[in-house]
Amino acid sequence: MHVVLVDPSRTILKCLTRLLEAEQHFVHPFTHGAGALQYVKSDHLVDALITSSELPLMSGPKLCLEVRSIASCRRPLYILVMSSSDEHRKLIESLNNGADDFISKPPITEELHARLRAADRILSMQRELIVLASTDFLTGVLNRRAFFEKAQELCARADMGGVLSAIMLDIDHFKRINDSYGHIAGDEALRAIARELSKEGAIVGRLGGEEFAMLLEGAPLSRAVEMAESLRLRLQELVVAIDQKTISLTCSLGVSQWQVDDTIDILLGRADVALYKAKTNGRNRVVVGECMSDVADYDSSKRVVRSGSRDSQELAAA
Ligand code: GH3
Ligand code: MG
Ligand code: MG
Repeated sequence: MHVVLVDPSRTILKCLTRLLEAEQHFVHPFTHGAGALQYVKSDHLVDALITSSELPLMSGPKLCLEVRSIASCRRPLYILVMSSSDEHRKLIESLNNGADDFISKPPITEELHARLRAADRILSMQRELIVLASTDFLTGVLNRRAFFEKAQELCARADMGGVLSAIMLDIDHFKRINDSYGHIAGDEALRAIARELSKEGAIVGRLGGEEFAMLLEGAPLSRAVEMAESLRLRLQELVVAIDQKTISLTCSLGVSQWQVDDTIDILLGRADVALYKAKTNGRNRVVVGECMSDVADYDSSKRVVRSGSRDSQELAAA
């Protein structure tokens, strides 16, 4: 584990660091809460805080409260409080403020190791739950909720002047694949497509049924269009083998680039309108969504698609 260790005594810090390192933990020692808090914020590998309940300046309970507020449903953090027998009030306050467990101070070596093993088990379960909650069970890419959550981070950076593009992709006539080869074969096709999309180093999400979205940070529109076109060609060549049969398929793609004052819904809305145009123009093609004034009411939860994409520009015909 990556442990931030806080105690006002350098001697105790030295001694505990040696004990923890002997058990393969990475230790970052601090004599003050403020420095420890800063470090927990900046190093996302940190997954545990061990702190004395009695600290100068920022108190132990206050540090517990601050660190608990950093921990989120995406970043589990375990807090262990060290407390001597005459610090009961501080210990209770620390637990109320978000500490997970406590140990007597000075800790007994074996007990400290055992408590950290318990912490590691809980953190592992929490990480597993995070993966389960954010992954599409069929294809292994981000599910819709996790994709939009991740998108918020990328959009915030785009808002500060970063470059961001989006691709929306939908399998052509997928219903026919299910009807001809069965649902299991359809599932295999979805998995194969997700594998191809995941090779591009982009953020990939399955937004629903046979529809995927990709976010490409640092890629301007021209690069995103190149990628979409190369994907289209690769997917057209993809052969999905199931039982003795092979399935081939095609996909339609819409591409857009972040513009000033965009939101994720507007960015994906432009790509989705372009995708819709790719469908109506014959499928198996890439269409670029240009500036659209009327897409502001696109709502990702309802998948409203406006057909009047008069500004869209078709790029590659099949
Ligand atoms: P289009 O080219 O216009 O997109 O036609 P389409 O047939 O791909 O689109 P349509 O919306 O008519 O059908 C989508 C199909 O996708 C219907 C649904 O049964 C299938 N589908 C959705 N989710 C899954 C899934 O998880 N597994 C399988 N096998 N099929 C799915
Ligand atoms: Mg489809
Ligand atoms: Mg669809």
